[in-house]
Amino acid sequence: MLYIVPTPIGNLGDITHRALEVLSEVDVILAEDTRVTKRLLTRYEIKTSLKAYHAHNEHQATEDIIQRLQSGENIALVSDAGMPGISDPGFLLVRACREADQEVVVLPGPTAFVNAIVGSGFPCDRFFFEGFLPHKKGRQTRWKFLATFPHTLILYESPYRLLKCLDEINTFIGSERKMCVVRELTKIHEQYHFGTAPELLEWFGKHPEKVKGEMVIVISGE
Ligand code: SAM
Repeated sequence: MLYIVPTPIGNLGDITHRALEVLSEVDVILAEDTRVTKRLLTRYEIKTSLKAYHAHNEHQATEDIIQRLQSGENIALVSDAGMPGISDPGFLLVRACREADQEVVVLPGPTAFVNAIVGSGFPCDRFFFEGFLPHKKGRQTRWKFLATFPHTLILYESPYRLLKCLDEINTFIGSERKMCVVRELTKIHEQYHFGTAPELLEWFGKHPEKVKGEMVIVISGE
């Protein structure tokens, strides 16, 4: 069995009993960064061995993992934080399992965009999750597509590109749309910053100390 196990996105307490049980009982845990997962395992006194599975080896490693699963091993996949497969490795392995008729169990758990949209107070009956925009090639094309979508939009963004991103929202999505930059979810300094793109550009320009940490951008629909 392959288990997809979500892990905390900041607060180490945000892990289910079932996730801890699975992580303790599987034969091996595939981890994006074994050092990051080791900290979580140490906190919960879990001694299961770890194997690296990340964006740079997922293509080569997938076939071997399928063989191990088919020989009867139980394997868990985790990423550094949140739900594997959501802007993290996972999709290739799950697809390969499905194609090989290999069972997959996905455990419920933290994923940053769900907290961000629910906490924003913007409509969450319909939304579009963009994840990370391409850094260069294709970025403008994505913005033009996103501008056509009338419902709530959700983006993952690095603090290094926040101001550029707000500037692009201003250009492509418009200066009137209400939006929210959600920082450091589940951590001590969790914060929601509301405004239009020009308002937030001005505010973050004056508060460079806040242009840091992990962030989700939620843009209200038209
Ligand atoms: N798999 C993760 C999930 O389920 O949300 C996402 C991994 S992706 C590599 C990392 C991005 O997720 C960050 O750059 C940020 O946009 C978002 N993120 C993760 N943790 C966050 C947090 N605690 N607060 C705000 N955003 C977070």
